[in-house]
Amino acid sequence: MRYISTRGQAPVLSFEDAMLSGLARDGGLYLPETVPTLSEAEIAALAGVSYEEAVARIIAPFVGDALGTPEEVEALIGRAYAGFGHPARAPLKQLADNHFLLELFHGPTLAFKDFAMQLIGQMFQTVLKRNGRKITIVGATSGDTGSAAIEAFAGLDNVDVFILFPHGRVSEVQRRQMTTPEAANVHALAVDGDFDDCQDMLKEMFNDFTFRDEVGLAGVNSINFARVLAQIVYYFTSGVALGAPHRKVSYCVPTGNFGDIFAGFLAKQMGLPVDKLIIATNQNDILHRCLTTGDYAKAGVKPSISPSMDIEVSSNFERALWFAYGGDGAAVSALMEELKAGRFRVSENAMGALTEHYLSGRVGEAETKAEIERMFKETGEVICPHTAVGTRVARDHQGATPVITLATAHPAKFPAAVEEACGVHAALPKRMGDLYDRSERVTRVDNDLAAIETLIRERRSA
Ligand SMILES: *Cc1c(COP(=O)(O)O)cnc(C)c1O
Repeated sequence: MRYISTRGQAPVLSFEDAMLSGLARDGGLYLPETVPTLSEAEIAALAGVSYEEAVARIIAPFVGDALGTPEEVEALIGRAYAGFGHPARAPLKQLADNHFLLELFHGPTLAFKDFAMQLIGQMFQTVLKRNGRKITIVGATSGDTGSAAIEAFAGLDNVDVFILFPHGRVSEVQRRQMTTPEAANVHALAVDGDFDDCQDMLKEMFNDFTFRDEVGLAGVNSINFARVLAQIVYYFTSGVALGAPHRKVSYCVPTGNFGDIFAGFLAKQMGLPVDKLIIATNQNDILHRCLTTGDYAKAGVKPSISPSMDIEVSSNFERALWFAYGGDGAAVSALMEELKAGRFRVSENAMGALTEHYLSGRVGEAETKAEIERMFKETGEVICPHTAVGTRVARDHQGATPVITLATAHPAKFPAAVEEACGVHAALPKRMGDLYDRSERVTRVDNDLAAIETLIRERRSA
């Protein structure tokens, strides 16, 4: 499989190179040249296999032999998911008639990011060992990506990890997960700015080719296609559990950077009978406004109790636009150029293509808290604020087709908001109970690209 950029101007790459480079050199995001499909029989045959076996079958056409023999790939997948706290990895729970919850928070850092990050940690290690390369991973995080990346890459050879997070805008558990690991190759940087500032600087680093080549810059944000790939799997396993390929399913996805829901779109392209993909946003509702008006217009990010979705420049939406514009890289490039001035307008044709697959909804702060309380009272489930945004929107779209809401994080990651809403203190799982006792290591930095590049040059060991 070869990988092309959404902006049409960067070199076509192999899976290995697309994974190691992250962002394309024309500023675009990599996508497979064609989306492979599974037959009805192949989808039906996923019923009852282990999660790891489903991963192997679904990633195979995307990765080819880039990761070694089938036995080596099997071992790599086994290592990736061994640290999960549930044998099903992504268990599905029924909430009400035709409403289900897909629990994606049983990984080592208690958010769905672990599904992709643990896998690509193993993929990177395999590839780097083979070719002797050294790389510097720089990531921007609204909270969960950073901890998942640190957990996946801490202590690995040939890799330094720098994580930029917005100072004061992540939960205490999220911060501690980033600042307490002891491995020398891990560097947590608290930036005086918001998530979009962190992500902007990351993108600029990738566009600074001198710096990029000097440090061997690699990205593990969801701009990295390998991340999105890993997330396709749980759409299939949950869809099949509810009767696919013989029955349609819809998904409601708490959304920020659009990586998770875009994986659902790819699952649909691959043949999973997905009816609708429902985008659930918090008060930072740029995607909901775009889906309902055609205008993608920045309005400023307001901190919320679901901080992992406090985003305005939703990177992976560019991949959705690429499909909606029929693969026209020049058109996508033009929209992204317009966005520099704060907004763009999606063409009528492209809006038609988007709304064929996607619906959307927005949930404010008070409604999110009320939903956490309602869920606890009616079902006994204690859910995190991101998940609550999802279940709230899903209830507005309840019909004959079953809806699966993705539970993106464990409530213990956001204990203050959860306790305020429903009166229950969500405890951390035993295996991470000493998180509050470990000492923290973090560097506070200005929102200044040049200064951060200098710091990375000095600190990296590779
Ligand atoms: C990252 C994250 C999201 C948003 O996912 P995207 O792929 O960025 O849309 C939602 N909820 C939680 C808990 C997250 O960590």
